[in-house]
Amino acid sequence: MHNIVDNLILINKEISAINSDTKIIAVSKTFPIEHIQPVIDHGHLHFGENKVQEAAEKWAKVKEKNSSLKIHLIGKLQTNKVKFCLPLFDYIHSLDNIRLAEKIANEQVKKKFKPKIFIQVNIGDEDQKNGIALHELDSFYESVKNLDLDIIGFMCIPPFVDDTEVYFEKMVQLKNKTNLKDLSMGMSNDYLKAVKNSSTYVRIGSKIFGERG
Ligand SMILES: *Cc1c(COP(=O)(O)O)cnc(C)c1O
Repeated sequence: MHNIVDNLILINKEISAINSDTKIIAVSKTFPIEHIQPVIDHGHLHFGENKVQEAAEKWAKVKEKNSSLKIHLIGKLQTNKVKFCLPLFDYIHSLDNIRLAEKIANEQVKKKFKPKIFIQVNIGDEDQKNGIALHELDSFYESVKNLDLDIIGFMCIPPFVDDTEVYFEKMVQLKNKTNLKDLSMGMSNDYLKAVKNSSTYVRIGSKIFGERG
């Protein structure tokens, strides 16, 4: 059993051997700050949370003390929560409807803080999954382009299958049709495949922090 900083160091080594530009988002959801602290002290900067309220309670004060930290919202965002998101989240990975896009556009003016944004893509065309449907992606991207958002790339949570690589390959194709630079894909079980497919942000939770209770 490794400690969590060792876990991160090992993963970092594996990843940087493939692509030294890929950033690891340490997904700290459900864990209290005391559990996360060693990773912060180690100097890691990118952390992921899936709930706005939990993230606010956990990170607002910590961020005041350490302004280099980057907090990523990787879970569903309701429009009525947007006002609590800025400037808490430096990145939002879950843009998946136009109302939400408009709300973020308004809020970033009010707060004078512009988060980086991923459009979430429903890459497996699954009924139950969040994200923009594949056949709507082009038109959605065109319409949000008119807002003054800092959209940096596409994010996906692939279907729950043994081999997710075909979905990562599809994501690369979608990204290459645009001039976006970033891809948010790859989790504890498949991050190396994601990095091989030019993912720039991998979201890794249990492989660093241990199983969630
Ligand atoms: C929880 C979560 C992760 C991390 O999952 P692990 O399998 O623990 O690495 C990544 N992305 C999203 C969107 C999540 O909700």
